[in-house]
Amino acid sequence: MKKVEMLYEGKAKKVYTTEDPDVLIVDYKDDATAFDGQKKGTIVGKGAINNRMTNHIFKLFEKDGIPTHYIEELSDRETAVKKVEIIPLEVIIRNITAGSFAKKMGVEEGIVLKRPTLEFSYKNDDLHDPFINRYYALALDLATEEEIDTIEKYAFQVNEIMKKYFDSLGIDLVDFKIEFGRYKGQVILADEVSPDTCRLWDKETHEKLDKDRFRRDMGNVEDAYNEVFRRLGIEDRK
Ligand code: ADP
Ligand code: UDP
Repeated sequence: MKKVEMLYEGKAKKVYTTEDPDVLIVDYKDDATAFDGQKKGTIVGKGAINNRMTNHIFKLFEKDGIPTHYIEELSDRETAVKKVEIIPLEVIIRNITAGSFAKKMGVEEGIVLKRPTLEFSYKNDDLHDPFINRYYALALDLATEEEIDTIEKYAFQVNEIMKKYFDSLGIDLVDFKIEFGRYKGQVILADEVSPDTCRLWDKETHEKLDKDRFRRDMGNVEDAYNEVFRRLGIEDRK
């Protein structure tokens, strides 16, 4: 599988076409951004960690019957994926209060929610990814009702799988963001699952092991990413 031309350069990844129109190659960068791209930096080694972690977790989802875009890991930073039409909804699941939820709802961070929540942001850079609900999404024809039902079902299933898995690694899954796309008439999970897109706290020390260390200038950002990667127990590539 070879890259043909760059289709898109995002904040964290470059996306390339291949000779197969149904296949893209994503190439993960060490670039980090926060606060709608206002804060920029580098997290050394992040690209490889996020690539390999996403693939590891997507394989767990596939085993449990959740379809993903994963095809094949090509190198530390590159993966062949099914080319989807991204549904422009960022799907956020929360188990413990943090970030924008804590701020908006006027609660402290770190409170275990009575049940997991789901919310959508409209994936639109010009509008700065505003909050959107199912009715707006349907009214704007961003997705069909059936697609939204599938997205919600998969999102909660993914949460249960990840919660259990991270728990076994001594990590609390606080919240995360996922994206879905359309592929040959099906809704499948796309994009990534990594410390960039999840809040991960050590169960014992409550230490943050995710991008909040970068967002909040807490230091030891690389150490946190490396620690998550270490706990995943992913073997070195040959
Ligand atoms: P951003 O666009 O937010 O800066 P990235 O740097 O992660 O984000 O860029 C990757 C882009 O590729 C995102 O817009 C994401 O929605 C898109 N994408 C992820 N997986 C796929 C896929 N399988 N097919 C098509 N596009 C994808
Ligand atoms: N998130 C993300 N990309 C975004 C917005 C949020 O990956 O564009 C993730 C974020 O890392 C966190 C969860 O979604 O794990 C919830 O984020 P929140 O709404 O609290 O926003 P933030 O505090 O990051 O602004």
